[in-house]
Amino acid sequence: MDPEHSLGRPLLTEQALSGQIDLHCHSTASDGILSPTALVSRAKSAGVTLLALTDHDTVAGIDEAEAEARAQGLTLLPGIELTALWGRRVVHIVGLNVDRRATALVQAIRLRDQLRRDRAQQIAERLEKRGFAGALAGARTFAGEGVIGRPHFARWMVEAGHVSDSGKAFKRYLGAGKIGDVAVPWPDMAETISAIRSAGGAAVLAHPLKYGLTRTKLRALLADFCAAAGDAVEVVCGQQNPVQTREILSLLDQVTVPAGEPRGPLLASLGSDFHQPDQPWRALGCVRLPAGVEPVWNLWQTGANQIQ
Ligand code: AMP
Ligand code: MN
Ligand code: MN
Ligand code: MN
Repeated sequence: MDPEHSLGRPLLTEQALSGQIDLHCHSTASDGILSPTALVSRAKSAGVTLLALTDHDTVAGIDEAEAEARAQGLTLLPGIELTALWGRRVVHIVGLNVDRRATALVQAIRLRDQLRRDRAQQIAERLEKRGFAGALAGARTFAGEGVIGRPHFARWMVEAGHVSDSGKAFKRYLGAGKIGDVAVPWPDMAETISAIRSAGGAAVLAHPLKYGLTRTKLRALLADFCAAAGDAVEVVCGQQNPVQTREILSLLDQVTVPAGEPRGPLLASLGSDFHQPDQPWRALGCVRLPAGVEPVWNLWQTGANQIQ
C-alpha cells in the first residue's frame, strides 16, 4: 500500500456514528438541486451525523458544505463520484474521505471537466439537429457554476416544454442508446480507483445494480474492481428493495480477493444518491446497512476493522 495512504487513520468520533449515515448525495456543484449549505442543513434535520458530499466529477461544493457542517455540528467527509469506464461501459466510482488537493485527484477532475464540456457541446449539436434550438445555453443556465451533465439538458427540455418531466427527457433523448447519449472516453476504472487511493480516499463502486448488467457481468465487474484495489461497494443506494440488497450481498460473498493481497474483503457503503427534495424514495439520510457487513467507515475509526 502507498505509504502516504491515510486509510485507517483515526478520524471519526462516536458522535459521528451515533445517527443516520449517508455517504452519497449531490449538490448544485453538480446535478443536485440544493446548494451545499441547504443540503447539509437538510441532512442535519434528517438526523444525519455523518455525511459525504459526492458530486459528479467535482469537489467544488466541499468547502461550503464543510463550513455548514461545522456550524450544524455534523461530520462531513469530502467525497466525489467519478465517472469512469469499465470496458465500454460507464461506471461510477465514489471516492470517500479524499484529500481534494492531491495531484492525482486534481488531474482526474480537470480531465473530466474538459470531457464534460466537450460532451455538452456534442449533445447540444445533436439536439439542435433534431430541432431543439438553444440547448447548450439552456443547459448551462441550469448547471450554473456547477459541472454540466445530462440532467441539466433534461431540466432545460422540461422548462422549454419539449417534454413533461426529466425522466421522459432521458427516455427519449438522453438515456442509453438515444441521440444525446454521446460516447465519452472517460478514464478507466482501475486508473480512477488509483487516483482516489492516491488522494488518501476509499474507492467505492456506486450503485452496482444500476448498470443494467447480467449477474455474470456483475461478478466480473466486482472481481475487476477488487483486483484494482477498490475498497467498498454500495450495498444500499437510493431506491432499492430488500431483494436487491440481498442480491448485492450475495455478489459480495462471491468476490475473490486476489491472492497475496493484504487487504480484507470488500467493505460495505451506503447512500441515498439524493439529488432533489421532491423524490420521496430518495430521502436524504434514510438509508441503513443490513446486519453482518463491515462498514466502510471502519477505515476511519481507531482500532479499524472491527465489525459494528
Ligand atoms: P451524466 O453524469 O451527466 O452523464 O448524468 C448522469 C446523471 O443523470 C445521473 O447521476 C442521474 O442523476 C441522472 N439520470 C440518469 N438517468 C436518469 C433517468 N432515467 N431519469 C432521470 N435522471 C437520470
Ligand atoms: Mn446525478
Ligand atoms: Mn451515479
Ligand atoms: Mn450519484
